[in-house]
Amino acid sequence: MMLLRHFEIQQPASVAEAVQMLAHFGEDASLYAGGTELLLAMKHDVLRYRHLIDVKVIPGLDRVERDDGIIGIGATATHRSVERASVVRSHLPVFVEMEQHVANVRVRNTGTLGGNLCFAEPHSDPATLLLVLGASVIAEGPQGRRGIAMEDFLTAPYETCLGREEVLTRIHVPITRPNQRIAYLKFQVHERPLLGLALALETPDNGDTFSSARVAVGCVSPSARRSASAEGFLTGSRSVVENNLSLAAEALADGAELEDDHQGSAEYKRHLIHVFLRRAFQKALG
Ligand SMILES: Cc1cc2nc3c(=O)[nH]c(=O)nc-3n(C[C@H](O)[C@H](O)[C@H](O)COP(=O)(O)OP(=O)(O)OC[C@H]3O[C@@H](n4cnc5c(N)ncnc54)[C@H](O)[C@@H]3O)c2cc1C
Repeated sequence: MMLLRHFEIQQPASVAEAVQMLAHFGEDASLYAGGTELLLAMKHDVLRYRHLIDVKVIPGLDRVERDDGIIGIGATATHRSVERASVVRSHLPVFVEMEQHVANVRVRNTGTLGGNLCFAEPHSDPATLLLVLGASVIAEGPQGRRGIAMEDFLTAPYETCLGREEVLTRIHVPITRPNQRIAYLKFQVHERPLLGLALALETPDNGDTFSSARVAVGCVSPSARRSASAEGFLTGSRSVVENNLSLAAEALADGAELEDDHQGSAEYKRHLIHVFLRRAFQKALG
């Protein structure tokens, strides 16, 4: 039988107080948002903490708002509230679509976007899409506030670049521009996705040419990642890019450190990258 050990919930009134609590309790404490990952890991005795610092009670930390070319998403906004926020629906429809397919409605109602990113479980959706959207995050710690590009945030499976006493406060996502074509696709057999693939193309002429491209793959890699060499194959005229899709998929797979595991062989994952890059290209332009 799985049992949760005794712990105490701390309720900070501000991010600054949460940071002070992290310093005060040290290794005995963890931040806690929806608890969908953390409490499960504690039930399995993989993680042990005597104090959980509940960031959900911090006023305003769940705000989702438009601000000068970006959508700012508070770290404690749940997947469901992001999916339903009118500014996200108006300016980042691809993000809404991704959020609608995260987990199930029960997890989406409780789990937060910040918790998803901070737990850094490789089989997750948001980070892959945030990479091609050019997102960044804001963290606050004893040294003050800093911005971190999404590329630098995830460092390894279950690891981010956050310091022990830092709190993720916001996720900044640039608003999609009219000359961008973006798609996110996932493939899932079990509880967590096996592949996530995001593609963003910039086209000055409604899809005849692509002046720049961003492509990222997640779930099959230790962390979601872009591939500069794959992106190189995805710029130029539409016919050139169409002919290059296989080369781009190979480059994406080469950069992903594919491994055989219970979800499938490395060869199978390489095949999926080919299929899903082609589908993402069609979807982005459709
Ligand atoms: C059945 C199931 C299916 C799922 N399917 C998917 C899926 O298809 N796709 C997908 O992407 N995800 C999936 N997930 C993961 C889900 O998205 C996450 O569980 C959820 O978003 C985590 O958020 P939380 O608020 O519950 O985090 P918590 O469990 O509260 O915290 C997770 C970690 O993040 C840290 N943390 C939380 N907030 C902060 C903060 N503000 N600053 C610093 N650190 C912080 C905590 O200390 C902890 O280490 C699934 C989960 C479950 C249980």
